[in-house]
Amino acid sequence: MPRIAIYLRQSKAVEGDELAIDRQRENCLARATGKGWTVDNAAIYVDNNVSASSEKVRPAYQRMIADVKARKFDVVIAWNLDRLTRRPREIEDWIDLNERYGVNLMTSEGTEPIDLSTETGRLMLRVTSSVARMEVERKGRRQKESNAQSRELGLPPTGRRAFGYSALGAGAKGVQSTRLGAGGTEYPAYGHEPIVEEAAAIRRGFDLLLAGASLGTVARAWTASGLTTTTGKAWGQNTVRGVLTNPRYAALVALPREMGTTGHRANRYDLAALTPGGWEPIVGVETWTAASEILRDPSRRKTSGAPRRWLLSGLATCAVVVEGGGVCGAPMKAGATRDKVAVYRCSASYHLARKADVADELVSHTVMARLSRSDAVELLANHEAPDRAALSAELTALQARLGNVADLVADGTLTKDQARSSVARLRGQAAELTARLTDAGKVDTLGPLIHAANIREAWAALSVDVQRAVVAALYRVEFATPGRGTRPPADDEGRRDHTRRSVALIPR
Ligand SMILES: [Zn+2]
Repeated sequence: MPRIAIYLRQSKAVEGDELAIDRQRENCLARATGKGWTVDNAAIYVDNNVSASSEKVRPAYQRMIADVKARKFDVVIAWNLDRLTRRPREIEDWIDLNERYGVNLMTSEGTEPIDLSTETGRLMLRVTSSVARMEVERKGRRQKESNAQSRELGLPPTGRRAFGYSALGAGAKGVQSTRLGAGGTEYPAYGHEPIVEEAAAIRRGFDLLLAGASLGTVARAWTASGLTTTTGKAWGQNTVRGVLTNPRYAALVALPREMGTTGHRANRYDLAALTPGGWEPIVGVETWTAASEILRDPSRRKTSGAPRRWLLSGLATCAVVVEGGGVCGAPMKAGATRDKVAVYRCSASYHLARKADVADELVSHTVMARLSRSDAVELLANHEAPDRAALSAELTALQARLGNVADLVADGTLTKDQARSSVARLRGQAAELTARLTDAGKVDTLGPLIHAANIREAWAALSVDVQRAVVAALYRVEFATPGRGTRPPADDEGRRDHTRRSVALIPR
């Protein structure tokens, strides 16, 4: 007859999921009886009003572990693993205890209780430990957040006023009155309202970035509008980055800095970790997400803030046929001739040089013509902008469901196996939604150009950075010699024509 121990725990009433000790005892005893085992009353360990995830010592639990190590028992029975412990490390410990002291762990709940003597049992234990870890992190996060209540109320971060918004009023938590925001939506009247001029600059900044402009370009645009940071400093790449990665502008509440488990900043601004705030957004969630994706791409960090005057510099390539066949392929760089004429030159060799203004004009015209065609909308990856509001709502719902999985396991609605596949499925869906939202942000930027009433004006209003991004999205641009043995004409009009015939635009 194996020697049996039973562990029972009642958690704090505030958790609201406590299971009476008596019911647990009854259930665990039934499990033992079902096997034909008897249990000594002295071998029933009880912790009352102790949370399983608490850092505090659970006296009965510790006593039982000591007894297990003294080889006093062959089997330990608990109602379920959450009753036993919610500390993932302690769950893992049971695999060691099983190996070293031969003690088996069993649960009495459900149709397929855990039995550590089987491989399936050990697998289930590990899955449970992961789910438990998730719940502990979630709970710990909630408790430790210095500003948890504000966050749950969807209040903006406190502290210095943020660029784009007026200061948050004192006692914002208690504010009940509302004000009308843009589009007639009501928002809480606790301050933190968009400042028209700054908000417009922020929107323009997001637009520029999404269209391919550098952070430096955005900084110059804001400075040109006479704007500074809220501390009165001139805009630079880092301060602009700080604004364009800040979820505040999409009315999203970030996690506090210290809560990230890895790479604080990245985690803090991970869409999956953000919750909706109650204040008026300046940009949509999809726009913010798309911008974050761009700024998170490390290749962007190398982008210099130097202005690019010429449309095709570094964008177009040399297509002169080289020895042995094939084309050169080197990027064309902007430069000037001795008599100060701007030209694009092959950056690898003396293959060719062509008039820069003529080439830019030709490419601009081609792009405008392409974008004003009735089928221009087909150019967008998604033929129409996805329903962003629906996508956002779906994502929020998914996140809530992810958060509930641990609860569903704890109350027995889901088995561990179901929980595991459920978590994997939900995560996959969330990733897909995030990708679609990102796409939606891009549609947002190219869309207005395509639907512009006057394409020429819309194009001219774009910075060269943005124009370059549009060109690159539509065409590959190559420079080649127009026909064998042609020599550049001597007269100006001849040269211009020669340049035009040298440029090839290959649709992507
Ligand atoms: Zn070349």
